[in-house]
Amino acid sequence: MPGGVSSPVRAFGSVGLDPFFASRGVGPRIFDAEGRGYLDYVLSWGPLILGHAHPVVVDAVQRAAADGMSFGACNSREVELAERLAEWVPSVEVVRFVNSGTEATMSAVRLARAATGRDLLLKFEGCYHGHADSFLVAAGSGVATLGLPNSPGVPDAVSALTVTVPYNDLEAVDAAFARHGDRIAATIVEPVAGNAGLIAPRAGFLSGLRERCTQGGALLIFDEVMTGFRVARGGAQERFGIAPDLTTLGKVVGGGLPVAAYGGSRDLMKWVAPAGPMYQAGTLSGNPLGMAAGLAQLDELERLDPFDALETAAADLVEGIVAAARARGVPACGQALGSMWGVYFTEGPVLNFDDAKQVDTEFFAKHYRACLERGLFFAPSAFEAGFVSTAHTSEDIAETVASVGDALDRATGVA
Ligand SMILES: *Cc1c(COP(=O)(O)O)cnc(C)c1O
Repeated sequence: MPGGVSSPVRAFGSVGLDPFFASRGVGPRIFDAEGRGYLDYVLSWGPLILGHAHPVVVDAVQRAAADGMSFGACNSREVELAERLAEWVPSVEVVRFVNSGTEATMSAVRLARAATGRDLLLKFEGCYHGHADSFLVAAGSGVATLGLPNSPGVPDAVSALTVTVPYNDLEAVDAAFARHGDRIAATIVEPVAGNAGLIAPRAGFLSGLRERCTQGGALLIFDEVMTGFRVARGGAQERFGIAPDLTTLGKVVGGGLPVAAYGGSRDLMKWVAPAGPMYQAGTLSGNPLGMAAGLAQLDELERLDPFDALETAAADLVEGIVAAARARGVPACGQALGSMWGVYFTEGPVLNFDDAKQVDTEFFAKHYRACLERGLFFAPSAFEAGFVSTAHTSEDIAETVASVGDALDRATGVA
């Protein structure tokens, strides 16, 4: 396996470590092959909002597996999960299931291009939408600059179709629309940016995007792969009261199995084959195990209604870490939204990717190593959101804050 891993950030390269090998997870903890436990704030990068191996999810998957692993034919669990998504996510009437967030965003962009007959995509610096060619585009300097590939293998002709602007910057969006407006098929955005740390949308940013897309004849795609069922039951669109044209979902929706989806209005989704001419397919899409895991997890979320409690836990964690850092003279800022949270070792405020890049990554790596030694598993990158699950207790949070304090003493050379 290249770099020893199946996905790059698992290699721990940015924190100067070799990765541990996970052997099992229970509730808020993940255990390595030597049996060491870590309080887990990565949670498989988001899916495990109920923690590891939640009995309700495990039971649903076991029962589904006993009925057969895959059918390649319609199954009733797909219908049930589709109905659940249409009920919970305000702007979604019709959904198509796929197997990863990347597939969902890639397909949503194809649909936007089909429906508008345009070819450009507007995206924001620091936002991650999966690894499809159109999304691997670095920000050009200045406003509405056409991008260049930042991954070899992405043809210039493809990256030239992606325009990038800074997050939270409506003037840059205006400039992009002024320059390319009649060619922009869609604006894609993480309504809360979680792949550059956590960057919340400024008041008026998302509604401003909604207005500009409507005026410019472009579609607005909310990439809710991370925020879906996380910042509120109905995702960021419910929380902020904005209706995107298309929504992508992943992570929580599959309960830890490879499930994702894209959806929107009946009218738009009519484009998708076989209802319409836009082709998109998948041998394992709507897999019965994945559907069962997703349904079980969403049912449990419905029963628990944990969203306020999760945000309180995440906020307590952030406040604790930020206070511990500042008490030691380490600049820090942070925020929690639902069960997503992020801390930056910089004064802040962090409104965009350039602000995020002010963090001291060397200090982060030192601090990270000290945390891992103390049994805390955070994302091994200064530019990723963290998560909490319903399995994390207030004692877990308090223990974490105390351990972070010790780790900071170590990283600052006090201990
Ligand atoms: C994780 C993520 C993706 C990609 O999903 P994969 O399942 O890893 O392909 C896309 N968009 C956002 C916002 C994500 O957080």
